[in-house]
Amino acid sequence: MISKLDPGLEREIEDRSGQKARLCYQCGKCSTGCLFNFAMDILPHKAIKLVQYGQKERLLASETIWLCAACETCTARCPNDIDVARVIDSLREIALEEGIKTADKNIPLFHKCFIGNIQATGRISEPILMGSYKTLSGDLFSDIGLAVEMLRKGKIKLIPSVVKSHRELRRIFKETKK
Ligand code: SF4
Ligand code: SF4
Repeated sequence: MISKLDPGLEREIEDRSGQKARLCYQCGKCSTGCLFNFAMDILPHKAIKLVQYGQKERLLASETIWLCAACETCTARCPNDIDVARVIDSLREIALEEGIKTADKNIPLFHKCFIGNIQATGRISEPILMGSYKTLSGDLFSDIGLAVEMLRKGKIKLIPSVVKSHRELRRIFKETKK
């Protein structure tokens, strides 16, 4: 894929995340530890390399930036103290700001529903998350059998639990939006 280069990308990422992608020496430890590497179209260490190369278009259109669960395993494994999760988070921020479309429009939608669920209750609640995602994506029935089975086995709680410090949660979201 030929894409326009952005020589300012590395600097932009550094300004947003405080991380110096140029320090990466491509050992690959971040990618081998990533729990979602099987599903990513660009592995974390390659994403860092593409930041060095200014491959902004390619990175912003990738599914990786939306599949990353921000678990920070990559960050913990980096022998060079690069916070890879923050770099990916910054790419996601830029993609949102620039209104970049992904190949699968449902990936950012799922991400939006996930964040909305956290904002509402402070915890993930499967009925809220899947209910909002399924409704907004229009894909209402494809997982209905699985949902029934999980309910039957008591794997899904119908009543969501809400964190005690909900006010603090609202404050964090407000500050983050600023
Ligand atoms: S933070 Fe993202 S990229 Fe890093 S290990 Fe977790 S899922 Fe993978
Ligand atoms: S673990 Fe760190 S140094 Fe190694 S490839 Fe990943 S970002 Fe680069």
